[in-house]
Amino acid sequence: MVKQKEGSSLATWFRESASDGHALEWKVQKRLYRGRSEYQTIEVVELETFGTALVLDGIMQTTTGDELIYHEMLAHVPLLAHRGPRRVLIIGGGDGGVAREVLRHREVDEVVMVEIDRMVVEVAMKYLPGHTKALGDSRLVIHYADGAQFLKDEKNQSRFDVVLVDSTDPEGTGPGRWLYTEAFHDDVVRTLAPGGIFAQQTGTPFFNPEVLAGVASSLSQRFPWVGVYWAVVPTYPGGFFTFSTGSLGPAVCAPQRRWDGKTYWYTEDIHRQAFVLPAELGRTLPRGINRPAVESMTR
Ligand code: SAM
Repeated sequence: MVKQKEGSSLATWFRESASDGHALEWKVQKRLYRGRSEYQTIEVVELETFGTALVLDGIMQTTTGDELIYHEMLAHVPLLAHRGPRRVLIIGGGDGGVAREVLRHREVDEVVMVEIDRMVVEVAMKYLPGHTKALGDSRLVIHYADGAQFLKDEKNQSRFDVVLVDSTDPEGTGPGRWLYTEAFHDDVVRTLAPGGIFAQQTGTPFFNPEVLAGVASSLSQRFPWVGVYWAVVPTYPGGFFTFSTGSLGPAVCAPQRRWDGKTYWYTEDIHRQAFVLPAELGRTLPRGINRPAVESMTR
């Protein structure tokens, strides 16, 4: 926290340095929690403009003000591109937002969430009730383990229709870095059932272009169809946030099924347009990314 004189009061600001030479600041109304698990520092702050925010190792993870954009796009794009997802694996996702969105799909009958840090879930349960409201769903099982290790377990192979990685960023020494390697992506392919779809957050290309480039290249070598899509997440550096996806089945850039869920951000048009990339970004990615889909909508 940075204290700055502003008028007569001493305003407190949460400051995140997105990269060398760039920082983001949000005015803090109240610090609600600060603790440390064996993996990371965990903070919860009430922001003046974006509601309640979860911060891990000083990096903004999610806020009640804009979480729906990120969680809807990470969940509904892959799920609606799949013809009939029944078993979904979430790696990370300790704040509960992605699990909540996945569980809104009635055809899904099993969600396994592998979150390495139990303390994140416990803190989210206390301070982010909107995020965690689905964690009591009987279809959900939470394992407190490293997601990379979980995939190595043979009984999980060819088991999941959709695998989503909602982890902390790979920079630094946090456990998120184990989820951005080629070996991890090899294990993802083995974990997916035929026709399966994978999606992973790949950050903001303005500040960490190597994350998106590395994942797009790795997926291009392992999946018959690979895509990159984006959304605007105001509380992430640069606001322009990417997701990378690989499919053993249909192209992910078009919904295969209609869905009547009420959303804040996601629509079928947003789904399609999210795969339209700015010129230069498209040029930096491997050839064949976002190949057009053959649409066949079913109810
Ligand atoms: N939406 C956020 C983002 O895009 O940066 C991610 C939020 S979520 C809270 C990130 C979670 O990933 C954290 O709870 C963290 O403990 C978990 N995580 C990081 N590395 C992991 C790993 N190897 N296995 C399982 N969970 C992991």
